[in-house]
Amino acid sequence: MITTVILVFGRGVSAQDIEAASQRLQALGLAHQQVRTQSSMQIVVLDDVSTVASHVFTQLPGVSKAIRVDSQLSLTLKKASACINLANGTVIGGEEPLIIAGPCSVESEAHIVHLAHQVKESGAAILRGGAFKPRTSPYDFQGLGIEGMKFLAVARAATGLPVVSEVMAPNQVAESEPYVDIFQIGARNMYNYDLLKEVGRANKPVLLKRAMSATVGEWLSSAEYIMLEGNLQVVLCERGIRTFETHTRNTLDLASVAAVKQMCQLPVIVDPSHGTGRPELIKPMSLAAIAAGADGVMIEVHNQPAEAMSDREQAITPAALREITLEMRILAATLRGKNTFPHKPVVAGSPLTSAVPKG
Ligand code: PEP
Ligand code: MN
Repeated sequence: MITTVILVFGRGVSAQDIEAASQRLQALGLAHQQVRTQSSMQIVVLDDVSTVASHVFTQLPGVSKAIRVDSQLSLTLKKASACINLANGTVIGGEEPLIIAGPCSVESEAHIVHLAHQVKESGAAILRGGAFKPRTSPYDFQGLGIEGMKFLAVARAATGLPVVSEVMAPNQVAESEPYVDIFQIGARNMYNYDLLKEVGRANKPVLLKRAMSATVGEWLSSAEYIMLEGNLQVVLCERGIRTFETHTRNTLDLASVAAVKQMCQLPVIVDPSHGTGRPELIKPMSLAAIAAGADGVMIEVHNQPAEAMSDREQAITPAALREITLEMRILAATLRGKNTFPHKPVVAGSPLTSAVPKG
């Protein structure tokens, strides 16, 4: 374990003060990184400072406080606020469980627009859809690429739903930026450090999936890579890990969700679609995810699951998504103590169900 320190500058600090503090750290031989958060300017010292006296840091020009952290996860563990606010008012990490839904792959403009309307009616607040697809076999459908990203933006304009989509290479980040609201880093790319740094320099939230073989520590280290570049809007996504069990596609590790929620403030989303690979398990595991403390779920939905161009075995219908939405809301309200017990049967038109449009 090493001890690092985060230097938080006071409001209105001058560029000269920051530069002077940086030069002093350099003279002390301490590697460091400047980070601009929503509320302050900070310098994160990356080297071990356990033998350096605190006044060395607090007396630096403009520094209002020096926070010592016994970990290499300085930013991940210390981030103060869980909430991420998207431009259209959607909150990630707020009171309501968030539903992200859509097809595994974007298939055509007409299809994604149609499905976006359907998932919105079923309670989704964010649309998902892969354009750059990391497929296990090179012979499988590889996605529509940037064309698919553009179709997602058309669906966003038609429905008002923000969009999350995966980028697989650093050069796809700037190229995709106009079309997405959240960058997804897929499980296979959680260790792609150049990609993590590139989305870390972007100005949009990042949904970071856990690699199928990653420990919780490695997952959080990847979040730290993104945040060190200045982008603190990281959302963690548990999507199951590989174990000896073959009954489910992956083993959905909800204990890690509860653990991460106790360690840090980053929002956590659970993906029961890849986590189980089985449509009939998606509802129970969505509810379990909320009970474990997740801020929401990401689910693959298709209007004709058997026809989906990728991951058709695990896709559920918009009608099945609607049922999950209703039950998740009831569960979340109960966990927050806002449901009455013993409660009346939930009927259409009650406060809990009326938020989901019929259809
Ligand atoms: C996906 O979301 O479609 C996907 C490829 O997920 P993962 O990276 O978790 O396998
Ligand atoms: Mn998929």
